[in-house]
Amino acid sequence: MSDVEVRTHTALHVVKGAVVNVLGDGAKWTASTYVKGNRGVLTVKFDRKPTPEEIAGIERLANEKVRGNVPIEVYELPRDEAEKRFGEDTYDLFPVPEEVMILKVVVIEDWNVNACNKEHTKTTGEIGEIKIRKVRFRRSRELLETSFDVLD
Ligand SMILES: [Zn+2]
Repeated sequence: MSDVEVRTHTALHVVKGAVVNVLGDGAKWTASTYVKGNRGVLTVKFDRKPTPEEIAGIERLANEKVRGNVPIEVYELPRDEAEKRFGEDTYDLFPVPEEVMILKVVVIEDWNVNACNKEHTKTTGEIGEIKIRKVRFRRSRELLETSFDVLD
């Protein structure tokens, strides 16, 4: 990943925390993610279209987390230990393959926990400002896509 894509990827974790914070546990399962350059898309399972206020709230909270400049911690530990410590929140909708025994778990304290073996910035401040471009709800599949840019 290029430097900007490391920032964009890390922003996915921050945006996910904001999405769950605003929309609740109903939005806690990530279905897929996409990163290209400074553009990212987070897709979660969800059952309705968020209001404009909720979308504004997601952007605001994500940027508060960036300005808070908190550490991105990465723990590498045996899978069963990770599950004990972090619970099912560690996983996305499509789980890590069974044969993977050591997990890298990315933690933004009190914000987001996710098994992820990609590269991340060391702090949220390095990400830069996050701008939500559009939010699309696909009713038939109950998927909510949040597209965003990471600004310089
Ligand atoms: Zn990650």
